[in-house]
Amino acid sequence: MPELPEVETIARALREGIPGGGPSLVGRTIQSVQVLWPREIANLAPAEFARRIAGACVRSVSRYGKYLLLGLDLPGDGPLSLLIHLRMSGRLDVVPRSAAFTPHARLVWLLDGDLALRFDDARKFGRVWLVGDPAEVIGSLGPDALSVTREQFVSRLRARRGALKPLLLDQTFVAGIGNIYADEALHLARLHPQRIAASLAEDEAARLYEAIRRVLLEGIAANGASFDWVYPGGNFQENFKVYGRTGRSCSACGTPIARIVIAQRSTHFCPTCQPLAI
Ligand SMILES: [Zn+2]
Repeated sequence: MPELPEVETIARALREGIPGGGPSLVGRTIQSVQVLWPREIANLAPAEFARRIAGACVRSVSRYGKYLLLGLDLPGDGPLSLLIHLRMSGRLDVVPRSAAFTPHARLVWLLDGDLALRFDDARKFGRVWLVGDPAEVIGSLGPDALSVTREQFVSRLRARRGALKPLLLDQTFVAGIGNIYADEALHLARLHPQRIAASLAEDEAARLYEAIRRVLLEGIAANGASFDWVYPGGNFQENFKVYGRTGRSCSACGTPIARIVIAQRSTHFCPTCQPLAI
């Protein structure tokens, strides 16, 4: 599942265009939308969705947590936002109209310039919302994992009684972290995934904050991680220290990486670098 760095990579491609690939989406006008799989629209009937978005101009592309946000301007109407959650397999590309209708295309926005914004989603878990105020969708999320301040993070963390791993995955705590970057950040911070958040000393909490920032920024610099054919191009998987490395040597100490299941999520860590007891 794409996490903050993968979603940021897609947001950047849509915002700035891809050299030799799709052009920027910013400034384009949505002429109409073809809804090929209505269930991907989370909050409106397909006809209403199509009616409200027709004629809108894309003014911005941003990200919050794992959500993509397209800021739209509609002449004679208030601001409108299109929010997209890619979930398991969604991807978004600006393509020539002639290339828009692929077998897994679920929504196709027809743009000016003979272009289209295509939402491909083989597994059909992706969701889109068209709203006046993004808070209708993301208002209950915690602060974005790259925007939260150290003070904010440390005080939120030390108020929680749960274990670190499920807490990092809880999007109402901080938004954007998933299984991969949680495991990598905990290893970098030398903290056991089952440590109780409220038990962390001030310096341990600060270490976790810095580790999260570092793995997310390294992930973005590597264009995210590529899992399969869905997200080609990223290479952060080559930097994984623990994720998916069960039984292989820890790069810091040589101990075999262990795998346990916490809150139904597979969790990878180094038993030496990340001791449970202190
Ligand atoms: Zn180790």
